[in-house]
Amino acid sequence: MATLPMPFTLLVSSRDPIGWGAALPEPTIRDRDLSMREPHRESRSRAFIAASGVGLRGARVLTKAVGQWTALSLTLWLLLSGCRASTNDSAPNGKLEDGQALREYLDTRGLAAFWKIQDQIALGRVVPDADWKALFATPAFQWQAPDDRVRGLIRERMQLAFQPDSAPLKEVIAGAEGYAATRWKHYSRMRELRMELELFLERLEESSIMRDSLILARQYMPSGSAKGMQWRTPVRLLLFGPDAIAGKDAIYVDLIEAYDQGADFQRLLAHEFHHLLYAFDSPLPALGEEQPRYWLVLALTQLHKEGLADRIDKRRAPLEPRAGGVPNYVEDFNAYYARAQETLTAFDRMLTKCMSAEDPAQVEREAWSLLHFNGHVEGFYMANRIAEVQGAEALLEDVGDPFSFLRRFDSVQPTFSKETLAWIAACEAELRAEQ
Ligand SMILES: [Zn+2]
Repeated sequence: MATLPMPFTLLVSSRDPIGWGAALPEPTIRDRDLSMREPHRESRSRAFIAASGVGLRGARVLTKAVGQWTALSLTLWLLLSGCRASTNDSAPNGKLEDGQALREYLDTRGLAAFWKIQDQIALGRVVPDADWKALFATPAFQWQAPDDRVRGLIRERMQLAFQPDSAPLKEVIAGAEGYAATRWKHYSRMRELRMELELFLERLEESSIMRDSLILARQYMPSGSAKGMQWRTPVRLLLFGPDAIAGKDAIYVDLIEAYDQGADFQRLLAHEFHHLLYAFDSPLPALGEEQPRYWLVLALTQLHKEGLADRIDKRRAPLEPRAGGVPNYVEDFNAYYARAQETLTAFDRMLTKCMSAEDPAQVEREAWSLLHFNGHVEGFYMANRIAEVQGAEALLEDVGDPFSFLRRFDSVQPTFSKETLAWIAACEAELRAEQ
């Protein structure tokens, strides 16, 4: 099969921890790497565009001359990993097991269209409708802005944030709270880092990061897995918020998030690639939200695939603080992680109720809602406990099979009641019979 067999791997993030929901279509699953990174250097080059009016091309030349030291620190890791030309206009393809056929594919068209508009607004020019249309026609922004309401919001935000005078943006930031503040600060960084981001992107395109990330992801898969998989998944770069998201047919990454990640960006991409490899090898049927056991399978699958993938990029708990990103995310993650065993016990108790519930789907959904950050926290805990007791290799034996993962966890850390395990086994048998 060339297509991903598990739609539930692409499901809704019903709790939207960073509040970008207004600008994000569903279904999506959010991912966030929280590894340590170098603090970014503040931009000086943005002034070239807004103040001197030299235009993008001139600003780039000036920035390259003046800001070379900045670029050097950003890109050393990329250069060390070797240079490789990337394709940017053609669709990716190639069988996974054929390293030569696998083509790298970073889609930067959304960024180019975004920056074209940003630069015009920064110069006080009226942006032609054709440029807005071009922006929203790119695959990245078709995903981010699927309807007129969201497109209108993005237009308004860009007009406010990128106008020559930065005072209105500062005013909005000063008055914003919570996630709105995070969003406007992200816009502020789009202004500040305008030229650094373009230089960073150039190095990214010249690097072998796509291939290296995929190789890293496969190190967390059993050997010989995902054979026959056709690789068609581009990584689409854009600017929307501090996040990376695995979508149905592409991985979407915010460029500032990638920039902030520095050398750890490779691990973030590998995390996303791992989800695709995992889904390809799953023996479970595709389920729609209206079908029985949908919420149970979603919860178990999320625990498993995020737990495994978090070992690639988060690596160890507790997470270490880092600059930028979503405020309080690391603190919240660590607090939930410290209570993960307690949460899983509550998860078990809720599942026990499914057996006698009038509406089991509702109870399964409630059980799913007990998990934190879409199962990242408790899944990471489960995977780490298994690795501690049985060794990391044991995790490879269950890839694609969330039921087996649950049982393995329970064998090293007894958590689930006999009743729940029996009910889950019966659900599993039903699902496999549907195959
Ligand atoms: Zn993930």
